[in-house]
Amino acid sequence: MSTVHITSSFCKTLNKSRKRKINVNEWKCNKNKKLRNSGSEYIDRQGRIKPTKATSREARICKPETCKKGGCTSITIDDKEMLFNSFYGMDYNDQSSYLVKCIAMGAPKRLRAGKTDATSKKLAAFTYSVMLKRSGKYVSMLMCKRNFCDIFQINTKSIQILQSKMKDGVTIPTDLRETEESRIKIQQDSELHHRKAEAGYRFLKEDIESSKVSTTKHVLCIDMQQHESIAGRGSAEIVSALLAYIEDHFDILKPGEERHLIIWSDRCVGQNNNWKVVNLCHYLVQCHYFTIVEQKFLCSGHSFLPCDRNFALIEQRKKVCKVYVPDMWKEVIESASHKNAFEVKLLQQNDFKDFAPIEKNVKKNPNLKITQYMWFRYSADDPSNVNVRPSHNTFAPWTSFNIFTKKKMQPPGRSNLPLLYNEPLKITFEKKQNLMDMSDYIPLKYINFYESLTCKGKKN
Ligand SMILES: [Zn+2]
Repeated sequence: MSTVHITSSFCKTLNKSRKRKINVNEWKCNKNKKLRNSGSEYIDRQGRIKPTKATSREARICKPETCKKGGCTSITIDDKEMLFNSFYGMDYNDQSSYLVKCIAMGAPKRLRAGKTDATSKKLAAFTYSVMLKRSGKYVSMLMCKRNFCDIFQINTKSIQILQSKMKDGVTIPTDLRETEESRIKIQQDSELHHRKAEAGYRFLKEDIESSKVSTTKHVLCIDMQQHESIAGRGSAEIVSALLAYIEDHFDILKPGEERHLIIWSDRCVGQNNNWKVVNLCHYLVQCHYFTIVEQKFLCSGHSFLPCDRNFALIEQRKKVCKVYVPDMWKEVIESASHKNAFEVKLLQQNDFKDFAPIEKNVKKNPNLKITQYMWFRYSADDPSNVNVRPSHNTFAPWTSFNIFTKKKMQPPGRSNLPLLYNEPLKITFEKKQNLMDMSDYIPLKYINFYESLTCKGKKN
Protein backbone atom coordinates (compact mmCIF):
# COMPACT_ATOMS: atom_id res chain seq x y z
CA MET A 1 0.00 0.00 0.00
CA SER A 2 1.31 3.42 -0.84
CA THR A 3 1.35 6.13 1.79
CA VAL A 4 0.96 9.85 1.50
CA HIS A 5 2.85 12.11 3.81
CA ILE A 6 1.16 15.39 4.59
CA THR A 7 2.90 17.93 6.79
CA SER A 8 0.89 20.58 8.58
CA SER A 9 2.29 23.31 6.34
CA PHE A 10 1.37 21.36 3.22
CA CYS A 11 -2.06 20.91 4.69
CA LYS A 12 -2.39 24.69 5.04
CA THR A 13 -1.36 25.11 1.41
CA LEU A 14 -3.93 22.54 0.38
CA ASN A 15 -6.62 24.27 2.39
CA LYS A 16 -6.07 27.53 0.54
CA SER A 17 -7.49 26.01 -2.60
CA ARG A 18 -10.13 23.81 -1.04
CA LYS A 19 -13.74 24.72 -0.44
CA ARG A 20 -14.03 22.06 2.22
CA LYS A 21 -11.00 22.52 4.41
CA ILE A 22 -9.01 19.60 5.68
CA ASN A 23 -9.29 19.67 9.44
CA VAL A 24 -7.26 16.85 10.91
CA ASN A 25 -8.80 17.39 14.34
CA GLU A 26 -12.21 16.72 12.91
CA TRP A 27 -11.20 13.36 11.46
CA LYS A 28 -13.24 10.65 13.03
CA CYS A 29 -10.14 8.60 13.90
CA ASN A 30 -8.61 11.58 15.68
CA LYS A 31 -11.78 12.41 17.52
CA ASN A 32 -12.02 8.80 18.61
CA LYS A 33 -8.40 8.81 19.67
CA LYS A 34 -9.04 11.80 21.88
CA LEU A 35 -12.03 10.09 23.41
CA ARG A 36 -10.02 6.94 23.94
CA ASN A 37 -7.16 8.79 25.63
CA SER A 38 -9.55 10.56 27.95
CA GLY A 39 -11.09 7.23 28.96
CA SER A 40 -14.42 8.18 27.41
CA GLU A 41 -16.59 5.94 25.27
CA TYR A 42 -15.35 5.65 21.71
CA ILE A 43 -15.77 3.48 18.65
CA ASP A 44 -12.76 1.43 17.68
CA ARG A 45 -11.60 0.67 14.14
CA GLN A 46 -13.73 -2.42 13.97
CA GLY A 47 -16.74 -0.29 14.79
CA ARG A 48 -17.08 -1.74 18.29
CA ILE A 49 -18.20 0.53 21.05
CA LYS A 50 -15.66 0.80 23.82
CA PRO A 51 -17.38 1.91 27.00
CA THR A 52 -16.22 4.77 29.19
CA LYS A 53 -13.49 3.67 31.54
CA ALA A 54 -14.15 3.66 35.25
CA THR A 55 -11.72 3.41 38.09
CA SER A 56 -11.18 0.00 39.64
CA ARG A 57 -13.49 -1.06 42.45
CA GLU A 58 -10.94 -3.31 44.10
CA ALA A 59 -7.86 -2.22 45.99
CA ARG A 60 -6.00 -5.24 44.69
CA ILE A 61 -6.80 -7.79 42.06
CA CYS A 62 -3.75 -9.91 42.77
CA LYS A 63 -3.68 -12.53 45.51
CA PRO A 64 -1.96 -11.60 48.80
CA GLU A 65 -0.61 -15.18 48.99
CA THR A 66 1.30 -14.90 45.75
CA CYS A 67 2.01 -11.16 45.45
CA LYS A 68 4.05 -9.62 48.20
CA LYS A 69 4.69 -6.27 46.47
CA GLY A 70 4.50 -3.36 48.89
CA GLY A 71 2.33 -1.23 46.60
CA CYS A 72 -0.23 -3.99 46.12
CA THR A 73 -0.51 -4.50 49.90
CA SER A 74 -0.75 -0.81 50.66
CA ILE A 75 -2.81 0.70 47.82
CA THR A 76 -6.42 1.68 48.55
CA ILE A 77 -9.41 2.24 46.28
CA ASP A 78 -9.04 5.98 46.87
CA ASP A 79 -5.38 5.87 45.78
CA LYS A 80 -6.44 4.08 42.64
CA GLU A 81 -9.15 6.59 41.90
CA MET A 82 -6.77 9.51 42.36
CA LEU A 83 -4.18 7.95 40.02
CA PHE A 84 -6.88 7.00 37.51
CA ASN A 85 -8.31 10.51 37.39
CA SER A 86 -4.98 12.24 36.95
CA PHE A 87 -3.99 9.72 34.25
CA TYR A 88 -7.10 10.35 32.15
CA GLY A 89 -6.69 14.07 32.58
CA MET A 90 -3.51 13.84 30.48
CA ASP A 91 -3.17 13.70 26.73
CA TYR A 92 -1.67 10.67 25.02
CA ASN A 93 1.91 11.92 25.12
CA ASP A 94 1.82 12.70 28.80
CA GLN A 95 0.15 9.40 29.54
CA SER A 96 2.92 7.54 27.75
CA SER A 97 5.76 9.37 29.44
CA TYR A 98 4.04 8.96 32.77
CA LEU A 99 3.83 5.20 32.25
CA VAL A 100 7.44 5.05 31.15
CA LYS A 101 8.43 6.76 34.40
CA CYS A 102 6.45 4.16 36.33
CA ILE A 103 8.14 1.28 34.57
CA ALA A 104 11.73 0.49 35.38
CA MET A 105 13.87 -1.69 33.17
CA GLY A 106 16.59 -3.85 34.65
CA ALA A 107 18.58 -6.93 33.80
CA PRO A 108 16.56 -10.11 34.10
CA LYS A 109 16.84 -11.61 37.57
CA ARG A 110 17.40 -15.13 36.44
CA LEU A 111 19.03 -16.05 33.18
CA ARG A 112 17.56 -19.22 31.82
CA ALA A 113 18.85 -20.98 28.73
CA GLY A 114 16.66 -20.27 25.76
CA LYS A 115 14.58 -17.95 27.81
CA THR A 116 16.60 -15.14 29.30
CA ASP A 117 20.09 -15.72 27.97
CA ALA A 118 21.54 -14.08 24.88
CA THR A 119 19.52 -16.32 22.56
CA SER A 120 16.23 -15.17 24.00
CA LYS A 121 14.23 -12.12 23.27
CA LYS A 122 13.81 -11.31 26.90
CA LEU A 123 16.74 -9.08 27.65
CA ALA A 124 15.22 -7.10 30.42
CA ALA A 125 12.98 -7.42 33.44
CA PHE A 126 10.49 -4.72 34.24
CA THR A 127 9.19 -3.48 37.53
CA TYR A 128 6.18 -1.25 38.06
CA SER A 129 5.74 1.36 40.71
CA VAL A 130 3.46 4.26 41.53
CA MET A 131 3.85 7.22 43.83
CA LEU A 132 1.52 7.00 46.80
CA LYS A 133 1.03 9.58 49.51
CA ARG A 134 1.94 8.04 52.84
CA SER A 135 2.06 10.14 56.04
CA GLY A 136 2.24 13.38 54.09
CA LYS A 137 4.98 12.28 51.70
CA TYR A 138 4.92 10.68 48.28
CA VAL A 139 6.71 7.37 48.21
CA SER A 140 7.38 5.06 45.33
CA MET A 141 5.74 1.70 45.81
CA LEU A 142 6.27 -1.41 43.78
CA MET A 143 3.26 -3.00 42.14
CA CYS A 144 2.78 -6.19 40.22
CA LYS A 145 1.94 -5.79 36.56
CA ARG A 146 -1.64 -6.94 36.97
CA ASN A 147 -2.52 -4.53 39.70
CA PHE A 148 -0.59 -1.74 37.98
CA CYS A 149 -2.69 -2.20 34.84
CA ASP A 150 -5.81 -2.28 36.97
CA ILE A 151 -5.12 1.21 38.34
CA PHE A 152 -5.25 2.76 34.88
CA GLN A 153 -7.64 0.22 33.38
CA ILE A 154 -5.20 -0.48 30.59
CA ASN A 155 -4.39 -3.87 29.13
CA THR A 156 -1.02 -5.58 29.24
CA LYS A 157 -0.72 -5.13 25.46
CA SER A 158 -0.22 -1.38 25.79
CA ILE A 159 2.37 -2.02 28.50
CA GLN A 160 4.16 -4.47 26.21
CA ILE A 161 4.30 -1.90 23.42
CA LEU A 162 5.89 0.61 25.75
CA GLN A 163 8.35 -1.96 27.03
CA SER A 164 9.49 -3.04 23.61
CA LYS A 165 10.15 0.61 22.81
CA MET A 166 12.10 0.94 26.04
CA LYS A 167 14.14 -2.09 25.03
CA ASP A 168 14.92 -0.35 21.77
CA GLY A 169 16.30 2.52 23.77
CA VAL A 170 13.37 4.84 23.33
CA THR A 171 12.94 6.80 26.51
CA ILE A 172 10.22 9.08 25.22
CA PRO A 173 7.88 6.86 23.25
CA THR A 174 5.60 9.81 22.68
CA ASP A 175 7.75 11.45 20.01
CA LEU A 176 8.07 8.18 18.22
CA ARG A 177 4.36 7.76 18.12
CA GLU A 178 3.84 11.28 16.84
CA THR A 179 6.13 10.86 13.85
CA GLU A 180 4.96 7.34 13.26
CA GLU A 181 1.47 8.64 13.43
CA SER A 182 1.80 11.32 10.81
CA ARG A 183 3.54 8.78 8.59
CA ILE A 184 0.90 6.11 8.86
CA LYS A 185 -2.19 8.20 9.47
CA ILE A 186 -3.22 8.27 5.87
CA GLN A 187 -2.48 4.58 5.54
CA GLN A 188 -4.59 3.76 8.56
CA ASP A 189 -7.38 5.89 7.23
CA SER A 190 -7.30 4.05 4.00
CA GLU A 191 -7.17 0.68 5.72
CA LEU A 192 -10.10 1.63 7.88
CA HIS A 193 -11.96 2.67 4.79
CA HIS A 194 -11.29 -0.67 3.13
CA ARG A 195 -12.34 -2.57 6.19
CA LYS A 196 -15.53 -0.56 6.38
CA ALA A 197 -16.17 -1.21 2.71
CA GLU A 198 -15.67 -4.93 3.19
CA ALA A 199 -17.98 -4.89 6.18
CA GLY A 200 -20.54 -3.13 4.02
CA TYR A 201 -20.51 -5.98 1.51
CA ARG A 202 -20.84 -8.50 4.29
CA PHE A 203 -23.93 -6.78 5.62
CA LEU A 204 -25.37 -6.42 2.13
CA LYS A 205 -24.88 -10.13 1.52
CA GLU A 206 -26.54 -10.92 4.82
CA ASP A 207 -29.53 -8.80 3.89
CA ILE A 208 -29.84 -10.50 0.52
CA GLU A 209 -29.56 -13.97 2.05
CA SER A 210 -32.12 -13.23 4.74
CA SER A 211 -34.56 -11.76 2.22
CA LYS A 212 -34.38 -15.03 0.24
CA VAL A 213 -35.81 -16.99 3.14
CA SER A 214 -38.29 -14.35 4.20
CA THR A 215 -41.64 -13.57 2.63
CA THR A 216 -41.87 -10.10 4.14
CA LYS A 217 -38.31 -8.83 3.65
CA HIS A 218 -37.26 -7.27 0.36
CA VAL A 219 -33.89 -5.92 -0.69
CA LEU A 220 -33.48 -3.41 -3.50
CA CYS A 221 -30.11 -2.33 -4.83
CA ILE A 222 -30.19 0.91 -6.67
CA ASP A 223 -27.54 2.67 -8.64
CA MET A 224 -27.78 6.39 -8.89
CA GLN A 225 -24.36 7.03 -10.27
CA GLN A 226 -25.10 7.97 -13.81
CA HIS A 227 -27.55 10.60 -12.73
CA GLU A 228 -25.00 12.55 -10.80
CA SER A 229 -24.29 15.02 -13.55
CA ILE A 230 -27.85 16.20 -13.68
CA ALA A 231 -28.11 16.48 -9.91
CA GLY A 232 -31.44 18.01 -8.93
CA ARG A 233 -33.46 16.66 -11.78
CA GLY A 234 -31.71 13.31 -11.55
CA SER A 235 -32.82 12.66 -8.01
CA ALA A 236 -36.45 13.46 -8.80
CA GLU A 237 -36.25 10.92 -11.59
CA ILE A 238 -34.69 8.26 -9.41
CA VAL A 239 -37.30 8.75 -6.74
CA SER A 240 -40.03 8.55 -9.40
CA ALA A 241 -38.57 5.37 -10.84
CA LEU A 242 -38.33 3.84 -7.39
CA LEU A 243 -41.91 4.73 -6.57
CA ALA A 244 -43.09 3.38 -9.92
CA TYR A 245 -41.26 0.11 -9.24
CA ILE A 246 -42.76 -0.22 -5.80
CA GLU A 247 -46.30 0.59 -6.89
CA ASP A 248 -45.99 -2.01 -9.62
CA HIS A 249 -44.62 -4.75 -7.38
CA PHE A 250 -46.32 -4.28 -4.03
CA ASP A 251 -49.85 -3.79 -2.82
CA ILE A 252 -50.74 -1.55 0.05
CA LEU A 253 -50.58 -3.57 3.26
CA LYS A 254 -53.75 -4.82 4.87
CA PRO A 255 -54.15 -4.01 8.57
CA GLY A 256 -51.83 -6.23 10.64
CA GLU A 257 -49.68 -7.19 7.66
CA GLU A 258 -45.97 -6.48 7.77
CA ARG A 259 -43.40 -5.88 5.06
CA HIS A 260 -39.81 -4.75 5.30
CA LEU A 261 -37.83 -3.01 2.58
CA ILE A 262 -34.05 -2.51 2.56
CA ILE A 263 -32.61 -0.21 -0.07
CA TRP A 264 -28.87 -0.47 -0.69
CA SER A 265 -27.16 2.19 -2.70
CA ASP A 266 -23.84 3.88 -3.02
CA ARG A 267 -22.81 7.06 -1.38
CA CYS A 268 -22.29 9.33 -4.32
CA VAL A 269 -25.58 11.12 -4.13
CA GLY A 270 -25.23 14.54 -2.58
CA GLN A 271 -27.03 15.91 0.38
CA ASN A 272 -29.95 17.20 -1.63
CA ASN A 273 -30.58 13.98 -3.42
CA ASN A 274 -30.47 12.15 -0.16
CA TRP A 275 -33.19 14.31 1.30
CA LYS A 276 -35.40 13.30 -1.60
CA VAL A 277 -34.80 9.64 -0.86
CA VAL A 278 -35.32 10.22 2.87
CA ASN A 279 -38.63 11.71 1.95
CA LEU A 280 -39.57 8.82 -0.30
CA CYS A 281 -38.69 6.21 2.32
CA HIS A 282 -40.87 7.96 4.86
CA TYR A 283 -43.61 8.24 2.27
CA LEU A 284 -43.51 4.49 1.56
CA VAL A 285 -44.12 3.80 5.24
CA GLN A 286 -46.83 6.46 5.44
CA CYS A 287 -48.58 4.96 2.42
CA HIS A 288 -48.53 1.52 4.09
CA TYR A 289 -46.47 -0.14 1.43
CA PHE A 290 -44.04 -1.19 4.13
CA THR A 291 -43.98 -1.29 7.92
CA ILE A 292 -40.23 -0.70 7.93
CA VAL A 293 -38.04 0.89 5.27
CA GLU A 294 -34.29 0.96 5.70
CA GLN A 295 -31.74 2.65 3.55
CA LYS A 296 -28.13 1.52 3.73
CA PHE A 297 -25.10 2.95 2.00
CA LEU A 298 -21.89 1.39 0.88
CA CYS A 299 -18.66 3.30 1.35
CA SER A 300 -17.98 5.79 -1.40
CA GLY A 301 -15.42 4.56 -3.86
CA HIS A 302 -16.27 0.97 -3.05
CA SER A 303 -19.76 0.94 -4.29
CA PHE A 304 -19.83 -2.16 -6.39
CA LEU A 305 -23.40 -3.20 -5.94
CA PRO A 306 -24.88 -6.38 -7.35
CA CYS A 307 -26.64 -4.20 -9.90
CA ASP A 308 -23.28 -3.03 -11.23
CA ARG A 309 -22.64 -6.59 -12.35
CA ASN A 310 -25.87 -6.35 -14.29
CA PHE A 311 -24.72 -3.15 -15.94
CA ALA A 312 -21.58 -4.94 -17.02
CA LEU A 313 -23.70 -7.66 -18.61
CA ILE A 314 -25.74 -5.03 -20.41
CA GLU A 315 -22.60 -3.30 -21.63
CA GLN A 316 -21.44 -6.61 -23.08
CA ARG A 317 -24.74 -7.22 -24.78
CA LYS A 318 -24.77 -3.72 -26.20
CA LYS A 319 -21.63 -4.53 -28.17
CA VAL A 320 -23.51 -7.02 -30.29
CA CYS A 321 -26.83 -5.20 -30.48
CA LYS A 322 -27.83 -2.20 -32.50
CA VAL A 323 -29.77 0.49 -30.74
CA TYR A 324 -31.32 3.06 -33.02
CA VAL A 325 -33.97 4.51 -30.75
CA PRO A 326 -34.11 4.58 -26.93
CA ASP A 327 -36.96 2.07 -26.71
CA MET A 328 -34.67 -0.55 -28.24
CA TRP A 329 -32.67 -0.55 -25.04
CA LYS A 330 -35.47 -2.63 -23.58
CA GLU A 331 -34.58 -5.56 -25.84
CA VAL A 332 -30.87 -5.18 -25.19
CA ILE A 333 -31.36 -5.24 -21.44
CA GLU A 334 -33.90 -8.05 -21.50
CA SER A 335 -31.59 -10.25 -23.49
CA ALA A 336 -28.41 -9.36 -21.59
CA SER A 337 -28.60 -12.04 -18.92
CA HIS A 338 -29.29 -15.69 -19.76
CA LYS A 339 -29.47 -16.70 -16.13
CA ASN A 340 -31.95 -14.23 -14.73
CA ALA A 341 -33.80 -12.33 -17.39
CA PHE A 342 -34.00 -8.67 -16.51
CA GLU A 343 -37.36 -7.14 -16.15
CA VAL A 344 -37.47 -3.80 -17.93
CA LYS A 345 -40.02 -1.13 -17.44
CA LEU A 346 -39.92 1.77 -19.81
CA LEU A 347 -40.88 4.82 -17.88
CA GLN A 348 -43.04 7.26 -19.71
CA GLN A 349 -42.85 10.94 -19.11
CA ASN A 350 -45.94 10.88 -16.92
CA ASP A 351 -44.21 8.37 -14.63
CA PHE A 352 -41.96 11.19 -13.48
CA LYS A 353 -43.58 12.98 -10.62
CA ASP A 354 -43.02 16.17 -8.75
CA PHE A 355 -42.64 15.24 -5.08
CA ALA A 356 -42.98 18.80 -3.79
CA PRO A 357 -46.39 18.18 -2.13
CA ILE A 358 -45.03 15.42 0.10
CA GLU A 359 -41.70 17.15 0.65
CA LYS A 360 -43.59 19.69 2.71
CA ASN A 361 -43.81 17.07 5.44
CA VAL A 362 -40.07 17.06 6.00
CA LYS A 363 -38.37 19.62 8.19
CA LYS A 364 -34.69 19.55 7.35
CA ASN A 365 -32.96 19.28 10.69
CA PRO A 366 -29.54 21.00 10.48
CA ASN A 367 -28.21 18.61 13.13
CA LEU A 368 -28.88 15.64 10.90
CA LYS A 369 -25.84 15.50 8.67
CA ILE A 370 -27.18 13.04 6.19
CA THR A 371 -23.86 12.12 4.63
CA GLN A 372 -22.44 11.02 8.00
CA TYR A 373 -24.71 8.06 8.38
CA MET A 374 -24.66 4.66 6.72
CA TRP A 375 -28.02 3.40 7.86
CA PHE A 376 -31.45 5.05 7.93
CA ARG A 377 -34.56 3.48 9.33
CA TYR A 378 -38.18 4.51 9.04
CA SER A 379 -40.86 2.61 10.81
CA ALA A 380 -44.63 2.76 11.03
CA ASP A 381 -44.35 2.64 14.82
CA ASP A 382 -42.33 5.82 14.93
CA PRO A 383 -43.70 7.93 12.08
CA SER A 384 -42.28 11.34 12.98
CA ASN A 385 -38.65 10.25 13.39
CA VAL A 386 -35.86 8.90 11.28
CA ASN A 387 -33.37 6.69 13.10
CA VAL A 388 -29.78 6.69 11.94
CA ARG A 389 -26.62 4.72 12.56
CA PRO A 390 -23.09 5.75 11.61
CA SER A 391 -22.19 2.23 10.44
CA HIS A 392 -23.78 -1.07 9.51
CA ASN A 393 -22.88 -2.38 12.90
CA THR A 394 -25.97 -3.63 14.67
CA PHE A 395 -24.44 -2.89 18.07
CA ALA A 396 -24.14 0.82 17.38
CA PRO A 397 -26.92 2.81 19.03
CA TRP A 398 -29.60 4.48 16.96
CA THR A 399 -29.83 8.23 16.93
CA SER A 400 -33.29 9.58 16.44
CA PHE A 401 -34.11 12.78 14.58
CA ASN A 402 -37.51 14.30 14.51
CA ILE A 403 -37.88 15.50 10.95
CA PHE A 404 -41.40 14.62 9.94
CA THR A 405 -44.42 16.64 10.89
CA LYS A 406 -46.69 14.95 13.34
CA LYS A 407 -49.87 15.77 11.53
CA LYS A 408 -51.33 12.74 9.92
CA MET A 409 -51.12 13.29 6.22
CA GLN A 410 -53.07 11.48 3.64
CA PRO A 411 -50.48 10.31 1.15
CA PRO A 412 -51.66 11.50 -2.23
CA GLY A 413 -50.48 8.38 -4.09
CA ARG A 414 -48.41 8.42 -7.22
CA SER A 415 -51.30 9.02 -9.57
CA ASN A 416 -52.23 12.17 -7.68
CA LEU A 417 -48.77 13.68 -7.62
CA PRO A 418 -48.16 16.48 -10.10
CA LEU A 419 -46.09 15.69 -13.16
CA LEU A 420 -42.44 16.59 -13.20
CA TYR A 421 -42.62 17.61 -16.84
CA ASN A 422 -45.59 19.07 -18.62
CA GLU A 423 -44.37 18.80 -22.18
CA PRO A 424 -41.81 16.77 -24.07
CA LEU A 425 -38.30 17.91 -23.23
CA LYS A 426 -36.67 19.93 -25.93
CA ILE A 427 -33.20 19.28 -27.16
CA THR A 428 -30.86 21.89 -28.54
CA PHE A 429 -30.97 22.71 -32.20
CA GLU A 430 -27.34 21.64 -32.57
CA LYS A 431 -28.04 18.30 -31.01
CA LYS A 432 -30.91 17.63 -33.35
CA GLN A 433 -28.74 18.68 -36.27
CA ASN A 434 -26.09 16.18 -35.16
CA LEU A 435 -28.66 13.43 -34.82
CA MET A 436 -30.10 14.15 -38.23
CA ASP A 437 -26.62 14.11 -39.77
CA MET A 438 -26.34 10.53 -38.64
CA SER A 439 -29.64 9.54 -40.18
CA ASP A 440 -27.82 7.94 -43.13
CA TYR A 441 -26.79 5.18 -40.75
CA ILE A 442 -30.22 4.68 -39.27
CA PRO A 443 -32.79 2.39 -40.90
CA LEU A 444 -35.64 4.37 -42.37
CA LYS A 445 -38.28 3.15 -39.97
CA TYR A 446 -36.49 4.71 -36.99
CA ILE A 447 -35.89 8.11 -38.51
CA ASN A 448 -39.36 9.23 -37.59
CA PHE A 449 -38.36 9.25 -33.95
CA TYR A 450 -35.58 11.74 -34.55
CA GLU A 451 -37.65 13.93 -36.79
CA SER A 452 -40.28 14.24 -34.10
CA LEU A 453 -37.86 15.60 -31.51
CA THR A 454 -38.57 19.19 -30.68
CA CYS A 455 -35.82 21.64 -30.02
CA LYS A 456 -35.55 24.86 -28.15
CA GLY A 457 -34.47 28.18 -29.65
CA LYS A 458 -33.82 28.78 -33.35
CA LYS A 459 -36.08 27.35 -35.98
CA ASN A 460 -37.84 24.08 -35.44
ZN1 LIG B 1 0.18 -7.48 43.18
